[in-house]
Amino acid sequence: MSDLLTGHVERGTLFVVAAPSGAGKSSLVNAVLAQEPDISLSISFTSRAPRPTERHAQHYHFVSQDEFRAMIAADDFFEHALVHGDYKGTARQSVEPFLAAGRDVLLEIDWQGARQVRHKVPDCVTIFILPPSREELERRLRGRALDSEDTILRRLADSREEIAHAPEFDFLVINDSFDRALRDLCAIVRAQRLRRQVQVTRHAGLLEALLA
Ligand code: 5GP
Repeated sequence: MSDLLTGHVERGTLFVVAAPSGAGKSSLVNAVLAQEPDISLSISFTSRAPRPTERHAQHYHFVSQDEFRAMIAADDFFEHALVHGDYKGTARQSVEPFLAAGRDVLLEIDWQGARQVRHKVPDCVTIFILPPSREELERRLRGRALDSEDTILRRLADSREEIAHAPEFDFLVINDSFDRALRDLCAIVRAQRLRRQVQVTRHAGLLEALLA
């Protein structure tokens, strides 16, 4: 992405994706990353206990509450929040060096984190994924069979608060059909990469040659 003429490296784009639990966010994000390998996914830190299917450093960096608080005190986080009673956060190291090197980065975080990121990086691109109905959201949460009944009920209640913040996001994608939602997400990524200020830097040599 660097401009050979000036040596200037354009900063990468920061994509933020949020959704209530059960909206299908992780599957969609993984499918986008399979199609767009030039995006780096940030692996968050959390004080939540791993689920049986989750692997350290793959799904999250699992740390204790004390370790998480020490990272907050050391100003290690790009953003962090208490989500469903657990600490969740994005390390600066997972974001800042990548953006500076011109690489696009994607964060899967909640609305509180998205707010902090918007303040830090006003030109970030924020996307909210909505389920097609409350019934479908509940069906998907139960279908995962990952959580206890208490957790499912709490997540359903919390989903109202998360969804109330959907209007703060640049794009809303409805995950009714997985394939259509995936196409919508890929369209957002591609459109962002075609924006003038991105293209003018990326193709400065071309513009110069065409105008010569
Ligand atoms: P789960 O516990 O189901 O993996 O995630 C629950 C919620 O935590 C999701 O809304 C997810 O977006 C959010 N989350 C995951 N990682 C982060 C993070 O690094 N920062 C913030 N603010 N939220 C996160």
